[in-house]
Amino acid sequence: MDLGHNSIMSFSYEGKRILVTGAGGFIGGWLTKDLLRMGASSIVAVDIKEMENWYQISDGIENRVLDLRSSESCKSVLKNVDLVFNLAADMGGMGFIENNKALCMLSVLINSNLLFYGLEQGVERYFFASSACVYNQQLQKSSGHTGLREDDAYPADPEDGYGWEKLFSERMCRHFLEDFGVETRVARFHNVYGPHGTYDGGREKAPAAICRKIAIAKMNNLKEIEIWGDGSQIRSYMFIDDCIRGIHEITRGEYSRPINLGSSESVSVNELVNIVSTIAGVSLSKKYDLNAPKGVNGRNSDNTLIRDLFDWEPQMTLREGLELTYEWIYEELSK
Ligand code: NAD
Repeated sequence: MDLGHNSIMSFSYEGKRILVTGAGGFIGGWLTKDLLRMGASSIVAVDIKEMENWYQISDGIENRVLDLRSSESCKSVLKNVDLVFNLAADMGGMGFIENNKALCMLSVLINSNLLFYGLEQGVERYFFASSACVYNQQLQKSSGHTGLREDDAYPADPEDGYGWEKLFSERMCRHFLEDFGVETRVARFHNVYGPHGTYDGGREKAPAAICRKIAIAKMNNLKEIEIWGDGSQIRSYMFIDDCIRGIHEITRGEYSRPINLGSSESVSVNELVNIVSTIAGVSLSKKYDLNAPKGVNGRNSDNTLIRDLFDWEPQMTLREGLELTYEWIYEELSK
């Protein structure tokens, strides 16, 4: 991986003890693998899920099953840690976050405990996975493609539950830097997708849900799939490799305010379905469930800041990324 173009980048992973939380999940699993590939030698990977349910398990590191809402768990995993990647959160797609607001907000305990005990343990740098759900909902009412700029999170009116937790935790990161000198870094992810992510069970996001529905329709020769909402909702989707590359840039760089990490290639849900149908080689009619959770009408990422700071752009097109994701989900369902 060539990280050389960012002249302000100064922080190195070499010789560091690294904690990855949420390592049994989608992004944490890929990040752990990539840190190993980059030569990180001392990693502790933590998730609340039993190990057999981790999406990916890396060998040669310390893998632990713990609930990080507990202060005792945080204290025990932070011992001698220099760098934290906090990707642990009770989260899911719209179906989960609209119906589990309290659970989503309880993830504030993970971030609070990690920052508090991290400070005590001398953690140097701390990456927090925030979300596009922090953005003011009033700006996302129309089915438009307008990109959200970092400043658009204020005045605050984020997604209820999940978005408020992320916005609060972002601010806590900011104040731990300003008051205590912990080098916090915050990325606002916009819909990340790819293989080894959640694709069923109620926590999956649109790309994985659509790939699953279309794969099932293909296997069973069905002619129709159900879509949540009227299909006009606009989103952008970032492939996992681009997300991991962006996490490294932001973590190792010197910019400490929240920064968008997402694709600015936005599409409607209907277009997403059409792309996956073409990949699968099927023709399906769409049945709209207008009572299902659908989130805001229009959301896209404005990438001016991340482009200027890090020269970061997604390298994977939506079509290419969906091909890989559909193929993986189809194989999983075939097992
Ligand atoms: P994921 O659900 O696959 O991974 C999160 C992991 O955190 C899960 O494996 C879960 O078991 C673990 N976890 C939850 N509560 C825990 C606890 N109390 N203690 C320890 N582990 C706990 O989700 P993901 O897609 O990999 O998301 C990673 C991070 O990125 C999350 O913070 C999420 O909010 C954020 N994010 C993701 C997206 C996306 O599109 N995937 C978008 C915006 C933000």
